[in-house]
Amino acid sequence: MPTLEKPTVQCELHYQRTFQVAVEAAPESKIYTLHEDIFLSRSTFLRAARSQHWATDETITDLTDEKPKIFEAYLHCIYRDEVNKHYKSNHAHQPLFELYVLADKLEDAKTANVIIDEIVERSKDILIPTATEARYVYTHSVTGSPLRMLLVDLLVHEWDGVAEKSRIFPKQLLLDAMSEYARIQVECAEAEVVAAFTTTLQEQDYGRYHVHNGEYPASDCSTECVYNTEEDSAESMEES
Ligand SMILES: [Zn+2]
Repeated sequence: MPTLEKPTVQCELHYQRTFQVAVEAAPESKIYTLHEDIFLSRSTFLRAARSQHWATDETITDLTDEKPKIFEAYLHCIYRDEVNKHYKSNHAHQPLFELYVLADKLEDAKTANVIIDEIVERSKDILIPTATEARYVYTHSVTGSPLRMLLVDLLVHEWDGVAEKSRIFPKQLLLDAMSEYARIQVECAEAEVVAAFTTTLQEQDYGRYHVHNGEYPASDCSTECVYNTEEDSAESMEES
């Protein structure tokens, strides 16, 4: 039976060690067969599910709340370390938000970071999220999550201020944006305040929205990551 311990990186993968997941509720369910060595080393969620005492090699892991289209986009991220070009080529934030929420649910920090980098990159071509997209983020994330932080930064730094768009934003998003606005005003020297407010997401340092932990430290990051470990962010929180 698999254990909760993260498999060490194998020189040779065990191609015969596989498990199955069911995606989408019956009768539409699709079954995917995944390699343990690849997926259990990436996803804490899958590793925990596979290590339940009742789980046998035949137990099918339940992902029936998910949609095959999003799950396959996640598989693409795992195998290619990039977001599928077809998947991201539209002018809405929603598909990438949904993909991020899945990676976050599966507790796969590496994939979550790949997706958030893509959201940052794409945000220069797309207007700020719609109220529907903002509500989706706020109902599928917790306080302080990278996706919420990104949304707040988009509003504070890149919103053109058209009021009608904001009317149905989640109240908590508006409150978070206000407190970020106040933080910048208080923390920046007067001369820098204007510059601080006009900094785009791409101009901000990479890694701001990354998740890192002991299993996936910032040193493993392919981009130059400045907001390093959980320890670092805990320290900076204490300072502020
Ligand atoms: Zn990073």
